[in-house]
Amino acid sequence: MTDCLFCKIAAKEIPADLVYETERTLAFRDINPQAPTHVLVVSKAHHADAAALAEADDGLADELIKAAHAIAVQEGVAADGYRLVFNTGPGAGQTVFHVHGHLLGGRDLRWPPG
Ligand code: AMP
Ligand code: ZN
Repeated sequence: MTDCLFCKIAAKEIPADLVYETERTLAFRDINPQAPTHVLVVSKAHHADAAALAEADDGLADELIKAAHAIAVQEGVAADGYRLVFNTGPGAGQTVFHVHGHLLGGRDLRWPPG
């Protein structure tokens, strides 16, 4: 996709704080972090959202989740626990329509708080 921010990051046309890369996935720190660890995990191929990615049915959704867990281990948040969020659609707050999992960790994420 020519006018997609995360395609441009995946193509290394726009810089990002990269933390992990495989042949088909890439991860970089969110510019507006909501937790001590806030990493976006994307497929290099363009898919609009998690459902479209899963529908492509080529194992890429599995790879994305495995990558997220590997990053959680790398970031040292896997043992305490982390959250992996795929905002899907504008009403859920999705603003970039290239699938990305928000990997959040490094603080108490229990919901509801308390
Ligand atoms: P969403 O609202 O679920 O679509 O998530 C988009 C996320 O991308 C937000 O958390 C933004 O802070 C983040 N973001 C936007 N532009 C960049 C960028 N250039 N580098 C890293 N993260 C970005
Ligand atoms: Zn894209």
